[in-house]
Amino acid sequence: MIPFVDIHSHHFSNRKEVISLRSIDLNEYLKNNDLIISQCTLGLHPWYISKESCYDNLSILEKIIIEKLIYAIGECGLDKLIDVDYNLQIELFKSQILLSEKYKLPLIIHQVKAHEDILKIKRELNPIQPWIIHGTRMKWSIANELLNAGMYLSFGNHLLKSEPHLIETLLQTPLDKIFLETDNSAIAIDDIFVKAAEIKSMEVTTLKEIVYQNFKTVFKK
Ligand SMILES: [Zn+2]
Repeated sequence: MIPFVDIHSHHFSNRKEVISLRSIDLNEYLKNNDLIISQCTLGLHPWYISKESCYDNLSILEKIIIEKLIYAIGECGLDKLIDVDYNLQIELFKSQILLSEKYKLPLIIHQVKAHEDILKIKRELNPIQPWIIHGTRMKWSIANELLNAGMYLSFGNHLLKSEPHLIETLLQTPLDKIFLETDNSAIAIDDIFVKAAEIKSMEVTTLKEIVYQNFKTVFKK
């Protein structure tokens, strides 16, 4: 049976037919060490970065990477619409890129109005680990730049709003670069696959196979 792959979720799933990568912020983990119980990704989310704790948190993150089996680092990234010092965001994003390279783990990226800096940093550091931009809502011209830089794009519940620019982006995105996600929405991953398959004019089963293949490629599973 081909599973649904939910590449980025803040919920725990125990459905056998779903591979769900739960995204955990380090602060969340520090409050509850038992959180890492199955497939998860762990990182310092730009929303929750503080100058006082971020360097300690980075070293805790590295310790956990060494001790436990996490699937990827993230979500991490850059967000221009929040009140967190942007230079600090850049610094911590770069630190997590270096961890992803050092421990050969893919990166799950949160980006809001920061695609130019993400591209600049990628050119500067020239990483070889796969990068997945989660929560894609970009118009095609921006998405295309990220795809040309070798990144994967993950689409979520915004697809259900049928915004024309996002439909265009999904239509143009090559199948071997697509992931789907629930993020923090209560919508089932099945419904996101149904919508994406409808936009791509294909059977849900075919899309499941393609995304599962992408998952195996990126996570070497
Ligand atoms: Zn998220």
